[in-house]
Amino acid sequence: CGIVGYLGKKDAYPVLIKGLGRLEYRGYDSAGLALLNSDGGLNVYKTKGKVKDLDTFCKDKNISGTVGIAHTRWATHGEPSSVNAHPHYSESKNLAIIHNGIIENYADLKKKLQSKGLTFRSDTDTEVLVQLIEYIQNKKKLDLLSSVQVALHEVIGAYSIALLDKREPDQIIAACKQSPLVIGVAEDEFFLASDASPIIEYTDKVAYLEDGSIAVMKRGENLKVVDILNRELFQKIQTVDLNLGQ
Ligand code: GLU
Repeated sequence: CGIVGYLGKKDAYPVLIKGLGRLEYRGYDSAGLALLNSDGGLNVYKTKGKVKDLDTFCKDKNISGTVGIAHTRWATHGEPSSVNAHPHYSESKNLAIIHNGIIENYADLKKKLQSKGLTFRSDTDTEVLVQLIEYIQNKKKLDLLSSVQVALHEVIGAYSIALLDKREPDQIIAACKQSPLVIGVAEDEFFLASDASPIIEYTDKVAYLEDGSIAVMKRGENLKVVDILNRELFQKIQTVDLNLGQ
């Protein structure tokens, strides 16, 4: 029900946990996060319950990393459980995804992928999407962005998603359709979230993505927004007035 992401020079973990806290008002049944650490590892931690339960769960874990994504889930497909909580890994565990919304045609896509020999760990519609993206990556030898673009051609539904690929460690790809997604931009840093509340304590430069946008956040580069046909979209970056309402 809420998503947060960070890529930059700070440790991602505190930004993610604090950000999830800001989105708690939206309601949820479980929470989780994925971190890319400097040794090339992609670690996923998730649990049923509250953000503070996730924080407790992570106490003895490796939470290093300056790139990460985090999620609070309001279950629509699959019961509330730690297995069904996000992020979801792809089969190889090279990719991790978080998703708000519903993939309407997940059952058909799942059947197709199962017939190709893929197995699933969870009952969610979301895992189907990350497995589809990896299937396309492997089959067509595409990078993460291109395989997300191909996969989204096949998807019916509403979504905001964010993905990490441990083979492209300095990047987050995010996309949205009929579900909100806000990007925050600062010097050598990107933030993303379902609304601006987790972002505005770090930067006043925000971009509200239009339906059909795919945002490419790459270390050392400017925010790039494209569509599923890889046409570059003009993305307005607004300066929010942080004194508003005071
Ligand atoms: N449909 C997804 C699930 O059930 C995402 C739910 C959400 O928006 O939190 O896991």
